Amino acid sequence: MSYVDEVLEKVVAKNPAEPEFHQAVKEVLESLRVVVEANEEKFRRDALLERLVEPERQIKFRVPWVDDKGQVHVNTGYRVQFNSAIGPYKGGLRLHPSVNLGIIKFLGFEQIFKNSLTGLPIGGGKGGSDFDPKGKSDREVMAFCQSFMTELSKYIGADEDVPAGDIGTGAREIGYMFGQYKRIRGTYEGVLTGKGLSYGGSLARTEATGYGLLYLTEELLKINGKDINGMTAVVSGSGNVAIYAVEKAQQLGAKVVTVSDSNGWVYDPEGIDVEALKEIKEVNRARLTEYRKYRPNSEYHEGRGVWSVKADLALPCATQNELHLEDAKQLVANGCVAVCEGANMPTTLEATEYLQANGVLFAPGKAANAGGVATSALEMSQNSERLSWSFEEVDEKLKEIMVNICHNMDDAAKRYGMEGNYVAGANIAGFEKVVDAMNAQGIV
Ligand code: NDP
Repeated sequence: MSYVDEVLEKVVAKNPAEPEFHQAVKEVLESLRVVVEANEEKFRRDALLERLVEPERQIKFRVPWVDDKGQVHVNTGYRVQFNSAIGPYKGGLRLHPSVNLGIIKFLGFEQIFKNSLTGLPIGGGKGGSDFDPKGKSDREVMAFCQSFMTELSKYIGADEDVPAGDIGTGAREIGYMFGQYKRIRGTYEGVLTGKGLSYGGSLARTEATGYGLLYLTEELLKINGKDINGMTAVVSGSGNVAIYAVEKAQQLGAKVVTVSDSNGWVYDPEGIDVEALKEIKEVNRARLTEYRKYRPNSEYHEGRGVWSVKADLALPCATQNELHLEDAKQLVANGCVAVCEGANMPTTLEATEYLQANGVLFAPGKAANAGGVATSALEMSQNSERLSWSFEEVDEKLKEIMVNICHNMDDAAKRYGMEGNYVAGANIAGFEKVVDAMNAQGIV
């Protein structure tokens, strides 16, 4: 049996009931097959892949907190410190009821390659909790965040592990967590990114993932002889990534006609009103049913449906496994030319294969949404320098990073005879640097 297959089997046997983690490992190792097989004996002797798929450390802890009625609740907190070969662990904190160890491990594993692709010195990690901030008062969210950080603070630090936001963790949550970290540790350091501007945050961090997604998409289309200007796009999600993806897509001349949340989706044939979306989601923390109040000509539908709308460009920006094989078939039938992932692993393996087999340009999340973590790393640099850069300076660096990622994944795919396979290209380009650093550092 080949070394890759052996390791894939071991991962499933050793980590049962973690299907998302298996899926992420399979996607990466399958596309690294050609690299590994070129040097299989050495990889096997050094147990390189076993070390890559085993987190350096995983921390699981109790998070008790008290609600407004005096009731005590207990959530589970996680931090998976996956790989620090190229820098301190870096990756977001997800607060969502679906969170479990397998989800955090899949995200942490993906993060290793994503962070490497940015070209910046950051290792891979991820964390979170099964706490649901939806419907909670500010005081309840604060109580949770303080309890969560009381434990997490033992394991993180500006040079060790620097968490950031993710689903359910926005500026409010980061603020409460930062305050508690400072109180416990007594140090004012850049231990979290996504901070508010008044206490060490970076301009353009809020916009970074969505904007970065569009910078990469624009470049990808360009190197394939296409222009985003004038295209119609469908976007899923209506959170941080989706909002700024819609905004930048429109600035680049595309018309975005859908957004969604976990209850339903909006179709606005005239193009999504991004200011209305911001007010609904960022200010009022309300549901998308509100959108029709701003745009009476739009439609609201319960359930799923974004991928059934005819579009040139599809940008999944909500969550994992939200674009299935049936959706991929519909996109292809409707003439979609590119799918670029704003979320992490939103496209199932079968859907990805179908899109690629049918000539759709497909940019995987670990490349396409790397703008968030890249700008987080720029926030770390500013914190270390004790300086703040202008919006334009950060945005320019973000654009440069995304354009480089696009070319690096394109080049890596070509080098291994897989031109146009950006999944393979991104995995190989991210992997090469990490493996080089792991080899240099010995068996640790
Ligand atoms: P937010 O919490 O701001 O928004 C998430 C959006 O996705 C919401 O519209 C939410 O709807 C929807 N959603 C979440 N879970 C589900 C679900 N199970 N089914 C259907 N819809 C769902 O998160 P972000 O925008 O920050 O993150 C979105 C994706 O992008 C995630 O995969 C995240 O890991 C990834 N990402 C985020 C980065 C960042 O900088 N924020 C960086 C890189 C990747 P509802 O409000 O109803 O829950």
